Amino acid sequence: IIEFQDVSKSFGSLQVLDDLNMHVVPGEKLALIGPSGSGKTTILRILMTLEDISAGEILLDGEPLWHEMRGGKRVRASEHHLRKMRDGVGMVFQQFNLFPHLTATENIEQPQVLTHRKSKAAAREKAAEMLSVVGLVDKRDHYPHQLSGGQQQRVAIARALAMDPKIMLFDEVTSALDPELVEEVLNVLRKLAEETDTTMLTVTHEMNFARDFADRVLFFEKGKIVEAGSPEDIFTNPKEERTRSFLRKFL
Ligand code: ATP
Repeated sequence: IIEFQDVSKSFGSLQVLDDLNMHVVPGEKLALIGPSGSGKTTILRILMTLEDISAGEILLDGEPLWHEMRGGKRVRASEHHLRKMRDGVGMVFQQFNLFPHLTATENIEQPQVLTHRKSKAAAREKAAEMLSVVGLVDKRDHYPHQLSGGQQQRVAIARALAMDPKIMLFDEVTSALDPELVEEVLNVLRKLAEETDTTMLTVTHEMNFARDFADRVLFFEKGKIVEAGSPEDIFTNPKEERTRSFLRKFL
């Protein structure tokens, strides 16, 4: 469903992704781990079309994300093309980015109505369903300031899911939370990983969570995949010394 082909990305003279190749199959749950600055967040931002790429190509369901054919020529993707491709991708950020003047339900409804042109009633029904998935039915009429950080993040997850994305991206979704609120959010993601066949990529520093969540763990360093494998391979029997020394910091 996602294919990175020789993807490089630089910010000025800083190379963040270095000739990256990666293949994700439909329904797969991936955890991206690695030191700060290794390019993990950049991968998600590129998939969300918030950053472009310097070289290579990314295919979503076989279709190029960053290029399109026009007049028989391969050209940089237009905003129209990017918007179409982005429609199948949902992302949850470190900061929850809820609209402060809308209730939990309204926050989930609004993008469905504005982007998918759904009727208010259909959007409301979907919002109710998604609030139930994240365990917040009783908070549906609360405004963000009336919710804890963990609850706000669960609303943000519900909002992204309500758009029925084929691919969900989670970028360190617990790193802005107080420690006691982290688990409630991770448990929602654990449940989603188990119960849905949506393809999911998460960047995380929570190794216990990565172990439960992921079918496959990718360890990044300096814009390259150093090691990839099942959680068992990576956490119990890492082959690369660099993976071992990174993981030692979490013991
Ligand atoms: P972290 O775990 O800290 O989020 P990461 O592995 O997700 O790290 P990225 O956020 O992808 O790393 O960043 C990779 C590098 O690119 C970092 O050195 C970062 O400072 C740099 N970078 C990211 N975005 C930009 C930008 N818009 N302009 C310039 N440099 C950037």
